[in-house]
Amino acid sequence: MFVYRCRHCGVEVGRLPKTDHIKRRLGFTELSVEEQHTMLQDGPAGETYVQCICESCQEALAVSPEFHQLERFIQ
Ligand SMILES: [Zn+2]
Repeated sequence: MFVYRCRHCGVEVGRLPKTDHIKRRLGFTELSVEEQHTMLQDGPAGETYVQCICESCQEALAVSPEFHQLERFIQ
């Protein structure tokens, strides 16, 4: 399973089956190894977490760009 998780608040956005068709559709086959390491994280049960952004965080970012700086500060 690909599990989409918001990289800002950690909420699960959605799941997709881990098939070659889906991988191609998502463009994962075209990512460099480094990009895959950044975007994809393997979970303990063989699932792969995909970093994305949920709607509410996207809205928050659109409203306040400082949110970006805050995130960098926390990390
Ligand atoms: Zn979020």
